[in-house]
Amino acid sequence: MSLWRGLLASLWTTLRQLRRRDTLEYPEQEPKLGERWRGRPVLTHDPDGEERCVACELCSAVCPTQCIALEGADRPDGRRFAQSFRINFARCIYCGLCEEACPTLAIQLSPEYAFAKTERGDFVYHKEALLIEGTGKHPEYRYYAHAGVRTQALPKPVHCDPRSNLP
Ligand code: SF4
Ligand code: SF4
Repeated sequence: MSLWRGLLASLWTTLRQLRRRDTLEYPEQEPKLGERWRGRPVLTHDPDGEERCVACELCSAVCPTQCIALEGADRPDGRRFAQSFRINFARCIYCGLCEEACPTLAIQLSPEYAFAKTERGDFVYHKEALLIEGTGKHPEYRYYAHAGVRTQALPKPVHCDPRSNLP
């Protein structure tokens, strides 16, 4: 009896799978991307409209394929910015390490995944093509609201005996 039940169960599973359609008629049908999808990196602005990138080069240092190249410069007010910024998307593997390393949340992976080219050189995006108007995933974040700001003194720590919670 259990043999028949097992056979029927597997037949039912097979029939259910037959109705599933994972293949999409791309590009007519767009795939549904997950929230953490990792697509083409972009450079963002802070809510004041200032460029977030401070040309620290951490993204370039951490990039495993070394596809980021940039040059920093100082503005008259002392704020540092990326004079030039370049990513070679023919080498980018969309790992997201640049986003993780960025202290100002400037570089962020976007959902864009479809940008086929016929010329290899067209995969090299310069700053003008990388910069987006908005703030990306972090609408409130303003690096200079935190960097260089004096923090308030913490209250004196309360003395505690580290052995007090031993059984
Ligand atoms: S996603 Fe990865 S490979 Fe692409 S630019 Fe960032 S660190 Fe480099
Ligand atoms: S994008 Fe971020 S990590 Fe890269 S140079 Fe600019 S501030 Fe630094």
